[in-house]
Amino acid sequence: MQIHLHDGTIIPQLGFGVWQISNSDAEAAVTTALKTGYRHIDTAAIYENEAGVGQALKKTHLARSEVFVTTKLWNSDQGYDSAIKACEHSLMKLGLDYVDLYLVHWPAPKQNQYIESWQALIELQKRGLVKAIGVSNFNAEHLDAIIKATNHVPVLNQVELHPEFQQRELRQYHKQHAIATQAWSPLGQGQLITHPVINQIALKYGKTPAQVIIRWHLQQGIIAIPKSQTPSRIKENYDALLFGLSPEDMQAINELDKADGKIGPDPLTADF
Ligand code: NAD
Repeated sequence: MQIHLHDGTIIPQLGFGVWQISNSDAEAAVTTALKTGYRHIDTAAIYENEAGVGQALKKTHLARSEVFVTTKLWNSDQGYDSAIKACEHSLMKLGLDYVDLYLVHWPAPKQNQYIESWQALIELQKRGLVKAIGVSNFNAEHLDAIIKATNHVPVLNQVELHPEFQQRELRQYHKQHAIATQAWSPLGQGQLITHPVINQIALKYGKTPAQVIIRWHLQQGIIAIPKSQTPSRIKENYDALLFGLSPEDMQAINELDKADGKIGPDPLTADF
């Protein structure tokens, strides 16, 4: 399953996230993911595992064009010149000439430089160091600000999104601006695996709770990047591509949205 982004880029809808995988374990995890069939890897400078990811990309038999690689600009590197340098540094660590997608990781109110950073991403794209450019953890007001300043609309916004935090309002904004939605912590950092409604549905299909949740994302056009370090779970999550949920079961999961379902930091105040 693939999603066509507004700039013509095609992104595999199911990716492999590598947050909290150490640099020394990243090569093995990404190698397992690539062997399983994943063609989309999501890393970030702050994960400190770009070199390990790069090792797996170097050793795979897959052509560079067959794997979609995302990395992200960390908050302390925000600003025009520092963003350009940070991207070059990430590429060096990854051992790549370009990444398929580069994201501003957070709007970062303390730095308050996300517009300059976005201008740097536009320049990086012109130079060919990054194919597509997007953002992460941006609210509508942050998106409005970068679009107004540059007339450049990010291809996607990577945000916390899972059955208990569904981001309906922001997704509506995305739709109006042709911005794709990418879900981080799609499994609620694993916490939703034990949810009774998810388990009931999983039992009905003979699937696992993780597969049901991932399928719920995919079936509504969300790009999802679940993380696991366990080879059997890496494969289990990938096999969410192979079945379908009924409209009734999709609706039952839609109803799990909660006002206090957010797990991660609030982009308006996240100050790291
Ligand atoms: P996730 O929702 O993908 O959950 C991962 C955890 O769920 C695993 O550590 C494991 O404990 C559990 N799990 C995974 N597969 C399972 C299975 N089949 N059965 C049972 N348990 C299972 O959470 P995440 O790692 O926070 O998010 C995924 C990716 O999103 C990250 O690796 C990273 O790439 C990205 N991310 C981005 C941001 C951002 O600010 N842009 C923030 C957090 C995460």
